[in-house]
Amino acid sequence: MDIDKPQAIKSVNPVTGALTEYRVPSSDEINATVRDARESFDSWKELDLEDRSGYLGQIRDVMVGELDWIVGEITEDTGKVDVEALMSDVLPTVEIINYYEKEGPDILGREKRKTPFYLRQTESYVEYDPLGVVLVISPWNYPLQLSMIPTISALMAGNTVILKPSEVTPLTGKLSEEIMKRAGLPENVFQVVQGGGEVGSQLIDAGPDKVFFTGSVETGKKIARQASDQLIPVELELGGKDPMIVFDDADLDRAVEGALYGAFSNAGQICVSVERCYVQSGIYEEFVESVTSRTMELTVGTGRDADIGPIISPHQLEVIEEQVTDAVDKGARLLTEMKRNGNFFYPQVLVDVDHSMKVMTEETFGPLLPIKRFDSESEAIELANDSRYGLNSSVWSSDVRRAERAVRKLDVGNSFINDVVKNSGNPYLPFGGAKQSGIGAYHGPEGLKAFSRRKSVMVSRGRGKEPNWFPYTGGLYDVLKRLIRTLFGEPGPMEKVKNYVSLFRELG
Ligand code: NAD
Repeated sequence: MDIDKPQAIKSVNPVTGALTEYRVPSSDEINATVRDARESFDSWKELDLEDRSGYLGQIRDVMVGELDWIVGEITEDTGKVDVEALMSDVLPTVEIINYYEKEGPDILGREKRKTPFYLRQTESYVEYDPLGVVLVISPWNYPLQLSMIPTISALMAGNTVILKPSEVTPLTGKLSEEIMKRAGLPENVFQVVQGGGEVGSQLIDAGPDKVFFTGSVETGKKIARQASDQLIPVELELGGKDPMIVFDDADLDRAVEGALYGAFSNAGQICVSVERCYVQSGIYEEFVESVTSRTMELTVGTGRDADIGPIISPHQLEVIEEQVTDAVDKGARLLTEMKRNGNFFYPQVLVDVDHSMKVMTEETFGPLLPIKRFDSESEAIELANDSRYGLNSSVWSSDVRRAERAVRKLDVGNSFINDVVKNSGNPYLPFGGAKQSGIGAYHGPEGLKAFSRRKSVMVSRGRGKEPNWFPYTGGLYDVLKRLIRTLFGEPGPMEKVKNYVSLFRELG
């Protein structure tokens, strides 16, 4: 697409098919946006941490005061069911705003560190400075949460932010802009630039100080390659193929309900959804039977009482159908009726699956639950780790020690014992992927430091000349030898005391 001139993008409501047109800025306008963000950075970074926390409070107030409006805009944009928008888009966002509002100033405050003995007239500390202009590029599946959480974190750390929301969900990008406006954020501290991949790419060329990207592995790799030309730091929150391991001693009914929620909430369009389920032989038959009958009871539709909404991005429907066909062609059995109504894809349970099938190896991003039997703990771990991804995982057992032992052996960034998905919304824990699921982490204290440049500072209170300064002498050599032996060797207690006394005298 030639974006020298302003263009328009169209977003389609997956339920009604209604089209909304959005204007995509020209190249000049994109460069001007980055310039404006840089200018506003000069004053935003000077605010003290309490003032920035105050702005977070104002954003929280606007959101909590306008829940139905926010849910309405998200559902208009995505078609997702109301509970999903409120529970998984709004709640984790408000939760993290509240956490950083309260604890952000402490997390980002000056951090005292120790100083070595031979520099004992000196103090050490770390300060966290903002980076500058942060570019947040977000996907369509949780359009509010996945753009607002990195944005809030970057703002609290003193950066200005440009958000490029997914072209599939521009209305939620507009919504974020409106929330920030109502919260009274100073001009150009937060800006939204609508458009697709080309606009994202041009924003990277304009030289932000960090790119925070959430999306697919393929796009993540492109962004990392492009950003490396200017050595722009990149954080990547990418896809997953999350395993759920259910041991014989798990609470069966709870595990069945957990599998349904993990695989089918948000119609399976979650990076941390249950994408592969491994069930131990002793309970396999009962688990499969129960999951299948419960799957058929789920309600597909819209509004407040439906469980499963539409597939938000139409391209995804083809991916899901292709994975089912590939699995069935290779010997899998579908236990539910394969049904589709417009953009609504009914949830499906598959068995007799193996790792030659796409449904067990490639991210689905749809309501499919493939289930595979295993016999031993080591077999379950081997199957779970047989993936290029390593985002989330869950392990189910009534013996928490056994589950913890399994978790230790999983090559993943996150794990939940006896529950699913919601661990990604815990504001106190860092969240990020292993292997090709990403680089870096946000949420928790790490989530503010990810948007900061740490500066290590030492302050000397010494007077006159330091003992290590010139001239070098044989005497200094002897002192250093004694120092190393005393600090890091094993002299007897008497010798140690004697050495310390002389070192104190000689080092000043
Ligand atoms: P995507 O990679 O297609 O697009 C994501 C964003 O990148 C969009 O805003 C898009 O316009 C932009 N983009 C595309 N090409 C670009 C380029 N060359 N330069 C700059 N920007 C570009 O992903 P999607 O389909 O929107 O989202 C689904 C994917 O996101 C899934 O793989 C899912 O697992 C992943 N995801 C990961 C997490 C996580 O936290 N790890 C969370 C949600 C979704």
